[in-house]
Amino acid sequence: MQYPRRLPRFEYLEPKSLTEACKLLLQNDGKARVVAGGTDLIPKMKRRDVNPRALISLHGIPGLETISHSQVDGLRLGPLTTLGAVESSTIVTERFNVLYQAVQSMASSQVRGLGTVAGNLCNAAPSADTAPALMVLGTRLKLISPQRERTVAAESFFAGPSATVLEPGEILAEIQIPEVPRRSAGVYIKHTLRRAMDLAIVGVAVAITLQDDTCHNVRIALGAVAPTPIRVPGAEAILKGKGRSGDLFRRAAKEAATACQPIDDVRGSADYRREMVEVLTRRALEQAWDRCPGSTEGKR
Ligand SMILES: Cc1cc2nc3c(=O)[nH]c(=O)nc-3n(C[C@H](O)[C@H](O)[C@H](O)COP(=O)(O)OP(=O)(O)OC[C@H]3O[C@@H](n4cnc5c(N)ncnc54)[C@H](O)[C@@H]3O)c2cc1C
Repeated sequence: MQYPRRLPRFEYLEPKSLTEACKLLLQNDGKARVVAGGTDLIPKMKRRDVNPRALISLHGIPGLETISHSQVDGLRLGPLTTLGAVESSTIVTERFNVLYQAVQSMASSQVRGLGTVAGNLCNAAPSADTAPALMVLGTRLKLISPQRERTVAAESFFAGPSATVLEPGEILAEIQIPEVPRRSAGVYIKHTLRRAMDLAIVGVAVAITLQDDTCHNVRIALGAVAPTPIRVPGAEAILKGKGRSGDLFRRAAKEAATACQPIDDVRGSADYRREMVEVLTRRALEQAWDRCPGSTEGKR
């Protein structure tokens, strides 16, 4: 099959509210798709990987591209908040820097200007760059449908490659990121063959919060090394309550490499990916620790 091809025929629907969008999704009985930036969906339609009979655009609904922040609610992103808007947000750069690092590693500025954070999650690629960063930030996702509203943790959102827990008629309505504790820092390391416009061979996100000189909390998440982006709680447990130690970082990194389930593909072999998880997890842990305000290394 040749590519690029023309788009197949589809109906374009422009609801005026999220509730109406959910109802249209239900009425179309699994044969309609929400479209945000279209940077994943439109190429898939051209390749005939998906063939929806209707696209439900969110662009006729006001107020969905918001980035709001308060100390009580933390950071909230709407379903049309673009990667580019997140990248240029001062509050994201200053307070939620691991998300900034993930976003600015993605695609090109043109694609980031169209693509959304919500679309990156709902597309559910194992290599989705925002997913590990949002997981280590303790993000919750608000899902709405005509019948109900619920929130799920970012790490519970993915059900497999290109699959999520979204039920028929459900839309990701808000990305809710809690306020980051004061003595915290996060790091996202994306390993790619090319410097730009490439998908991750391995993505590692780490967020650490210090108390005195010990690790009060740590979250570690991996991309592109399992059917979905994953947390590695076994590796986190090795570090919680402990002081800065190269030996503990090595043990946690080894545990992360053991816990992941990479595959061989055009970007790298499973063995190579596993090795890189170990190397990059250790590196991300060291960097995140040393970036925490007041860390011994950070003061040097
Ligand atoms: C050249 C290029 C480079 C890229 N590089 C990267 C990269 O480096 N890293 C990376 O992770 N991705 C990359 N991507 C993929 C893509 O740009 C991102 O995943 C982007 O964030 C998708 O957002 P979107 O708004 O365009 O999603 P869309 O294409 O509009 O939607 C994607 C999927 O999510 C569903 N969806 C969207 N919003 C919602 C919602 N609110 N509720 C329910 N379902 C929804 C759609 O129905 C569709 O199935 C790249 C794409 C291109 C074309």
